[in-house]
Amino acid sequence: MEIIVGKTAGFCYGVKRAVEGSIEQVKNAENGIVYCLGEIVHNKQVICNLERNGIKFIEDANEINNINSKVIIRAHGIEKNIYDILKNKKVEMMDYTCPNVLKIHKMAEEYERQGFYIFLLGTENHPEIIGTKSYCGKNFSLIKDENDVDIAIQDFVNSKIKKLLVISQTTYNMKKFENIKKLIEENVNNDIELIIKNTICLATEQRQKETKELSSKVDMMLIIGGKNSSNTKKLFEIASENCKNTICIETKDELEKVKFDKILKIGIMAGASTPQKSIDEVINYINR
Ligand code: SF4
Repeated sequence: MEIIVGKTAGFCYGVKRAVEGSIEQVKNAENGIVYCLGEIVHNKQVICNLERNGIKFIEDANEINNINSKVIIRAHGIEKNIYDILKNKKVEMMDYTCPNVLKIHKMAEEYERQGFYIFLLGTENHPEIIGTKSYCGKNFSLIKDENDVDIAIQDFVNSKIKKLLVISQTTYNMKKFENIKKLIEENVNNDIELIIKNTICLATEQRQKETKELSSKVDMMLIIGGKNSSNTKKLFEIASENCKNTICIETKDELEKVKFDKILKIGIMAGASTPQKSIDEVINYINR
């Protein structure tokens, strides 16, 4: 059996920076607690490892009650008002928001200031979307998929605003982005100033492209990633379109019931928050 592992499988630049940076922060913390606001990445194994290293994960900034604390801000970023809460608490902020996410925050804030209505493409309740929404002001619509476009356009028309910006989550599905872009261009009136910015990050674009290519030439595709990882789910969707035998797993333990007979070529891809250790364990399991 041939095993082909995607070159882009595993930690992206932003996640690597946040995870490695957090470990450094704990090592250097002389006293006080090192908090992390929300899961640093959507991967149970990574979180457990960081907890073992001494990081305390919290969901709400108001849980911080020690002024000697450091607070890690994850790669997905946070809502605008949380920065104020943290400043008021006078804690030391370690901001590992990915520069790609920060760029979108700035963009949303700037266009909102110029009076644009904003369409934000992404997964509802995803931390990155919750953060970005806080920079979009009141005049915005969240578009989860193609089915939401009509109602978003109706809400935009009702707002009487004549300027529209379209942006997306950094890990949004590229194909869906193109479909929605086309729908918006076809259905928005000519007198509207329409600006569409593809804000899907390069790491996501390359990973999705490679997943598409790899899944079209193997008998089985394994996608490794956290069950709550949105970018892993998207890789699964993409691979499933080309390879019906696509399985999404978090760790090698889920492979015990999988049958590998008759499989000649197996492709492996992993989400942006999947550590190399989980990928290696899967490869070793299959090889054995
Ligand atoms: S997926 Fe892209 S935007 Fe998100 S952390 Fe990784 S590099 Fe940054």
